[in-house]
This record gives sequence, C-alpha cells and structure tokens, in this order.
Amino acid sequence: MSQVDEAASPAGPQPLELSELSPQTLYDKCKALANNLWWSWHPEVTNLFRDLDPIRWRQLDHSPIALLKEFTPERLEMRASELVLYSRINHAHRQLKEYLNSTNTWGRTHAGVLGSHPVAYFSAEFGLHESAPIYSGGLGVLSGDHIKSASGLGVPLVAVGLFYDQGYFRQRLDIEGYQQEEYIDTKVENLPMQPALGTDGEPITVAIETRNGTLLAKVWRMLVGRVCLYLLDCDVEGNQPEDRELTSRLYGGDQRTRIRQELVLGVGAVRALRALGITPGAYHLNEGHSAFATLEAIRERMEDDGATFDDALRDVSQHTVFTTHTPVPAGHDRFDGEAIEEHLGPLRDQLGISTEQLMGLGRVDPQNQNESFCMTVLGLKLSRRANAVSSLHGHISRRMWAHLWPHRVEEEVPIGHITNGIHVPSWLAWQMQQLFDRNFPVGWIHRVAEPEVWSRIQKIDPGELWEVHYALKNHLLSFVRRRVSRQCRRRGESEEVIEAARNVLDPNVLTIGFARRFATYKRADLIASDLDRLRSLLSDPQRPIQLIFAGKAHPADEPGKQLIKRIDNLRHDPQCAGRIVFVEDYDINVARHMVQGVDVWLNNPRRPLEASGTSGQKVVLNGGLNLSVLDGWWAEAYDGANGFAIGTGRAHVSDEISDARDGEDLYRTLEEEVIPIFYDRDIDGLPRQWIQMMMNSIGSLAGRFSAHRMVMDYVQTAYLPAAGGHSCDMSAR
Ligand SMILES: *Cc1c(COP(=O)(O)O)cnc(C)c1O
Repeated sequence: MSQVDEAASPAGPQPLELSELSPQTLYDKCKALANNLWWSWHPEVTNLFRDLDPIRWRQLDHSPIALLKEFTPERLEMRASELVLYSRINHAHRQLKEYLNSTNTWGRTHAGVLGSHPVAYFSAEFGLHESAPIYSGGLGVLSGDHIKSASGLGVPLVAVGLFYDQGYFRQRLDIEGYQQEEYIDTKVENLPMQPALGTDGEPITVAIETRNGTLLAKVWRMLVGRVCLYLLDCDVEGNQPEDRELTSRLYGGDQRTRIRQELVLGVGAVRALRALGITPGAYHLNEGHSAFATLEAIRERMEDDGATFDDALRDVSQHTVFTTHTPVPAGHDRFDGEAIEEHLGPLRDQLGISTEQLMGLGRVDPQNQNESFCMTVLGLKLSRRANAVSSLHGHISRRMWAHLWPHRVEEEVPIGHITNGIHVPSWLAWQMQQLFDRNFPVGWIHRVAEPEVWSRIQKIDPGELWEVHYALKNHLLSFVRRRVSRQCRRRGESEEVIEAARNVLDPNVLTIGFARRFATYKRADLIASDLDRLRSLLSDPQRPIQLIFAGKAHPADEPGKQLIKRIDNLRHDPQCAGRIVFVEDYDINVARHMVQGVDVWLNNPRRPLEASGTSGQKVVLNGGLNLSVLDGWWAEAYDGANGFAIGTGRAHVSDEISDARDGEDLYRTLEEEVIPIFYDRDIDGLPRQWIQMMMNSIGSLAGRFSAHRMVMDYVQTAYLPAAGGHSCDMSAR
C-alpha cells in the first residue's frame, strides 16, 4: 500500500539569490506560514519562528502571528540575515504551497467520492496548539489530531466548532496547593483566523431563533493544513449582552449556557455550512454536544426536497456518524423539557412534530415523561453508524446503551469501535524524528499507519536510541525546573525554596510522568495510597524513582482539587522533596514536554472508566514505556513485552476493593518489574532489556495507534458508507 500524502519534498533547502527577497516578500512568506497551523506539526518551521527571538517566542505562548507583529519587515530581514534564515523560510514556504496544491493523496485515491460532499466534523473543542486555547483536554486534542491527519491524508473534511475567547481556564496553585482558575482573553488578532465568507462574499452571521429571542453567531475560519476549521462565536453586535458571552468559556457555565452553546454548535454550525455553500456527504458528531445538528439537517431536507419528517430523519441518520467518548454518566449532557422547548421550540414547529415526539428523540423510552433529554441518546438514535473509542469501550457502550435496542442481544447493539490514535508529527520529538529519518524508509512520516515502517525500529542502534531519549529527558527536566521555580516565585516562597526548585529532579533517576484531568476516577493519588511505601521508592539510595505530575481539575470538581492539593503538598514531605513535582497549567505545551521526556507514563484509572486515553500513545512514539491499568486503549495494546500492566483487568465488587488491589498491583509492578529492569545496566551503562522494551513498544504500537490509522478506519467503515447512502437516496428520489 503506498500512501504518498504530501508532495515529495525536494532534497532540502535550495540556494537562493538573496537579492530576490525584498524585506516585504520575506515578511509575507513568514506571515503566510504563520496563517496556517500546518507550521505547528513541522518542527523545522516551528524552530524557524523560535530562532527569530527565542525569549519572546516562549513569552508569547509560541504564537508566530504575535511574534511577527513585533517585527517590521526590515527588522525581520536583519534578523534573517544574521541567522541565515532565507533558505529555510523559502523552503518552508514552498513546502506549504506544494502541500496545499498536492492532489496525490491517500484521500484522493480512497475517499474521492467525498470530494464534492466533504465530511462535516463537529466537535465542542479542538486542541491544535497551545497558542490556540480552544480546547480543555483529551476530547479536544483528539479532534485536533483527527483533522490534522485528515489534512495529511487528503481526506475531504471540514470541521466546525466554537470559538471561546477565554478558552478553558489557566491553572495556578496557591501556597496551599489549592487550584485557582484564571480566565484570560485570547487576542483574536494573534490567531490564524479570518472571518469566514459566505457564497455572497460577505462575512457570515447565523441566526437561531429560540422561544426567548434570537441568538446570533459569527463564523471564523482557521486553516489547519488542507482542512478548514469553522468556529462559531456569539460575541456579535445584536446579541443580548449575556449572549455575547455565551461562547466565552469552554465548559464554564450552567445547564442553560450549556444548551445554548450546544444549540449554536449543532443548529448554528449546520446553518454556517449552508451559508458557506458546503453540502456535507457525511456528518460526524464527535461526542453528543453537537447532536442538535441532526435536527437542523432534517429541517433542511424537508425544506429542500419536500420530504416528510420521517423520510428526512431516515436520510439524515444514514449520513450521520456518531462517536461516544465516555462511560462516565456526567459526560452525557441531559436537559429538561422546558429547556428543550425554549431552545428547540421554533425548530420543532418547522419540523412539524409535537413536544413529546421531540423529547422522545432524546429519551431511551420515548413515553417516559420522567426521562430528561439526553444528547447521547439523540446522537445514537439519529446516526446509522455509531462507535466507541476502544475495543473495551465498545463492549461497555453496548452494555450501557443496550436498552435503546430492546429487541437485540447485547453483542448486536449497533455500536462498534474505532480506537483513538494520535497525530504522529505533532507529538514526535524533533530529535527522535531525526533518528527515525536516518533509519526508516524515505517519506515514512507520511506513511505512519503502516506497521512495516515501524518494524524498522528493531534495527536502530540501542545506544543511539537511549542517547536521544536521555537528551529528551534532560530537556524535560530543564522545562520542569524552569516552570516549578517560576511557580514558587509567584507564590512568594523563599529564595531557598526557589533555588531548590531550580535543582529538582535528577536525569539518572527513573522518571515517571502522570498528567491528565484530575477527575477522581483517574486516581492521581493511587501511588500515594501507601505513603511509606512511596517514600521508600522515592528515597531508595540505589534505585530511586521520581514523579512529575500535571493536570487540571474541573472548576466545579472539589474532590479533584483536593487531589491536586494532596499531590502538590507532598513536596513538603522530607522524603519526597526534590523527587516529586507538580507542574501547573497542563496544556498541549506541558503535555508535549512530558510525553517526550519521561521514562514511564503512569495511568491508573478505575477500570473501565477510561474510554481510550491518548497521552500514553504519545509517550510510545518518543520511547517512553506505559505503566497502566488494562483499561481503554492499553487493554488492547499491551502484549506482555511492550510496556507494563497494573493488574490483570479483573473486575472487583467495589471501588474500595479495586483501589486497594490496584494500589498493591501498582507497587508490586514497580518494585518487581519496572525498577529492576530500568536499573539493570550492561558494561556500557545501557539498560538493554529496557531499551528492547522501548523498541517493542514503538514497533508494535506507533502505527496502530496513530491518528492516520484512525482516520483511515473512519473513512472506510463510516464516512464512505454514510456518504454512499447519499447518492443512493438521491437516485431513489
Ligand atoms: C493528549 C492530551 C490529553 C488526553 O490524554 P489522556 O490520556 O486522555 O489523559 C489531555 N490533555 C492534553 C493537553 C493532551 O495533550
């Protein structure tokens, strides 16, 4: 199988007549690069921006647009000539152009029918880069990786979401270790965003009637390689003052904010696509937040074709793909009848259905007046194809929603699974990529879903792999020291404490990372469940471990905040000090440093509550090993030689028993497997068995859990059948 998804790049930078580049031309090329997030997964381009002014680059959250604003064309030219950047800028610019114009893609060959009717991908958040804070966590990063891979593969897809001008919160810990939330306005002018123009050439505003007035949203366009991401934004003149703030914050508001945001994300987004002149061949609802989109799509069918409600519903569900992401009940939005009627009432009138009929679409039992309206139920009922995000999550989801199909046995509940994956170029460290470049087939970065590419890892020199990993680990440690000492200074701690923070952690010590949302089921403190045992692991004179934590708790999650506090306070324990740190404000930047530099990635959720998880997949790429409960993706990934399992995946009767058993299993695995293998060195100082496991991990997992593989699966098992239905139905009419 050949997957040439980007134009073959020329052999490297080519010489250029310097005089050909006027300062303005140079500046315009840099701006063109900054205006498409394509740069964010090309380290050679990221490095280019960084090199222009490394300090400001960091201070500006790695935003090239903000950085370029600080330069005049003349100063940029001066800086470029000091650093001999001309050919790098030219090369990058030409590569972007070739990428955008290339038609030789996997998608062209395998998803051509989507060409005139692309997939419309809906998601409440998109995690693309730290400089675009319109995501909170895993769901957003998954969406971001999905559309980056769709771009790489050339799959015709447009994405829609919301623009949050304050995004999710910034996390600070106070002196007690208690989480404080800060909201900062994002500067729109520093994002690669333009007002989206309609077929009439004018900026688009969509209007959504409710029983209580009209909601307006403008539409931005963000370029993500070949994919356009459209973001709806309620900060529009003409909206009520409180509605202008409707899309300010991600997951910030109450139920009413929530349903209004979801009205915009569903109904508003479908209207925006129409104004853009886009007729999707398939709708992909990534999680239930956007499920109202189906109702508007039904209305369109009725209006355009004179279809009956039932026929239009059948047609829309044929074209709709729904992905469910969590077995945790709070993850499934529910609204009461009053809220539904207030917000969907006018649309319901146009659909010609009763309040009970509409409510029935969001209820497991349509007749049950006590049942609220559930967005997941709507998504499942109005999509012909539905999937969970790992094999185990598929089983759980079929059981969880079996009552929606009372006449089927559980195995026949029509919810399949497509396991999540990650966008390799976004998460693979530059140094590691260079090592792979030297050892893998030419053009491998475009063929990351192919297992043969990764099997070459076994041929790499173990010493070289270890050396690159060690360099990345040191890079992580300097990042952590910088962050942690800054945290201490901000909290007003003593010079002594700040100085100690500058020297925490030791590159020769087994380094374990734990970073994720601090939801209680993820049990961040499992490793501290027996404090004495943890102390002796941290302070072992011969074979110590050290821990790096990061993660936010939802602002309303008090138990999650207490967990953070408990972990952060361990730094005051004399036997833990210097060996355990909490890095504030987990985001894509912190994640990138951590997944690229740790030896071991710890994941110990209460099984089976982790639908998939993706951070451990990012670690694989960079040579870290997973130490994880057999939940989510790890349940299908672990093969006994490519990482470590905590427990055997057996179910326990109560949370208390699970926690006790898993805690015991965690300590035992650390003491009997992880630590001995890590510290077992040969005469060259290399941990041979450990390096072999790194290779097994990369070789067996990197391709399978790539977003390229994931998107190809969606294309073949979901998008194409959904879009195919389109042409069938059309010809039937
Ligand atoms: C990858 C990533 C996640 C998701 O990882 P999980 O394994 O699901 O916790 C969350 N947040 C950030 C910033 C990430 O980069």
